[in-house]
Amino acid sequence: MKLEQMEYDVAVIGSGPGGLPAALAAARMGAKVLLVEQNGFLGGNLTIGLPLLGYLDKDGNQVIGGIAQELVDTLRDRGAATEHIPCPMHNSVTIYDHEIFKIAAFEKCLEAGISLLLHTQIVDADLENGSLRAVTLFGKGRRMEVSARVFVDATGDGDVGYLAGASYEKGREGSGVLQPPTLMCTLTGVELEKTIRYLEDHPEQMEPGPSVEIYPGYDGGYLRANLHHHVLVGFRRLFLKLKAEGRLPVDRDTMIYISTLAPGTVNINCTRHLGIDGSDVKDLTRAEVEGHLQNYALLEMFRKEIPGFESCRLARIYPFVGVRESRRFRGISRLTEEDVEAGRIGDDAVGLGSYIIDIHDGGGSGTIVRKVKPYGIPYGMTCSCEISNLMFSGRCASMDAVALSSLRVMPSLMAMGEAVGVGAALAARQQCSPGQVKAERVREILAGNGAILR
Ligand SMILES: Cc1cc2nc3c(=O)[nH]c(=O)nc-3n(C[C@H](O)[C@H](O)[C@H](O)COP(=O)(O)OP(=O)(O)OC[C@H]3O[C@@H](n4cnc5c(N)ncnc54)[C@H](O)[C@@H]3O)c2cc1C
Repeated sequence: MKLEQMEYDVAVIGSGPGGLPAALAAARMGAKVLLVEQNGFLGGNLTIGLPLLGYLDKDGNQVIGGIAQELVDTLRDRGAATEHIPCPMHNSVTIYDHEIFKIAAFEKCLEAGISLLLHTQIVDADLENGSLRAVTLFGKGRRMEVSARVFVDATGDGDVGYLAGASYEKGREGSGVLQPPTLMCTLTGVELEKTIRYLEDHPEQMEPGPSVEIYPGYDGGYLRANLHHHVLVGFRRLFLKLKAEGRLPVDRDTMIYISTLAPGTVNINCTRHLGIDGSDVKDLTRAEVEGHLQNYALLEMFRKEIPGFESCRLARIYPFVGVRESRRFRGISRLTEEDVEAGRIGDDAVGLGSYIIDIHDGGGSGTIVRKVKPYGIPYGMTCSCEISNLMFSGRCASMDAVALSSLRVMPSLMAMGEAVGVGAALAARQQCSPGQVKAERVREILAGNGAILR
């Protein structure tokens, strides 16, 4: 069958934090852009009930601007996002309305003149002389071939790089252990005032695990001061007790909930699926099934054990399991644990990260947390060193597992995404590969658009 042919300057596959800002930035620079997404909405994990973590560094300085800030400003104008609230645990927390976000994402793409293809997956990639000639897309029985000057792999799992045969790594160096995925859900009918009063009276339930480094002040008083705008990581003592009694339905040692803009409503980040590789569809299937069952078991447990949750109801299970970690591809440069720990900001930095090193242990039930200072996102980590016109944006970019555990939060990846869009548009305009584009020029354009680079 003859394939339908399409041609673009920049084709972005995946519309999460890595993809959406890349498409917007490239289109705003005048490139003809296609944004492909397998879901019927845009945003990837930006839509699954999570807070935006890490707009501020550990000292309260804002480190993310540009499109990532513009999206929050748009939501704030509609009463659909909070300020960036400093948090002793997560640096900062920004709570927003995920449904209004989906609408704003469509509006911005339409304004920028981006062509959208939803319900569409990449199924093949055709290489010619070390560059990607075209990718094949598939949706509702229809096959389309897209050629572009630059392709951006923003699929999270790196499906474009994988189909093109680019080399990648997975998991922690040495062990290959991956952070476990989680299926998020929403509970209504929660009396948060009661929960927080209980935590104020029982500070031992806020004690962190041994591998968690937090600043003083993450306690009942902090939660009360931010009653409707906080992320709770707590009830460790209770979880350990239930585990010892064989009554804990998940393999994790704390409860995580995210308060929302709707009174009495929280999002739950608690299911845990060990031994799952999110880039394997059989594993993903197991995680989705387990996630639904675990969310129900957690609901029943919370009703019995967590003060304030006695009458809660399951309002929604989000449409797909969230994958924290899978493939990471080889770039012209690579962000490492040492770069993050040293707070290295090179001349090629096209954005900043500063979120904690935050590893959900895929080999057990705990979490490793370490504070870091701001560090640079090197432009070269987004440019494939093997396929000349392929860029990686989001968690599949070139970095080690520890660096990923910090950079993976959505504001930092949106900063990366915007830089990728600028680099892709320049490469398309200059008819060169993205790796040949000067990071200095990308930085100038980003700075002019409000990005924070120092
Ligand atoms: C459970 C969990 C909790 C987290 N908590 C937080 C938090 O509290 N705050 C925070 O800031 N960050 C958090 N993170 C991290 C953050 O959500 C991710 O690191 C980030 O979303 C990764 O962005 P991405 O664009 O690379 O991938 P994604 O957000 O996964 O986006 C990828 C997009 O590509 C699409 N796609 C995938 N494959 C294809 C294909 N073959 N064809 C077409 N489209 C495709 C997907 O549908 C999706 O829209 C969490 C992550 C998880 C999983």
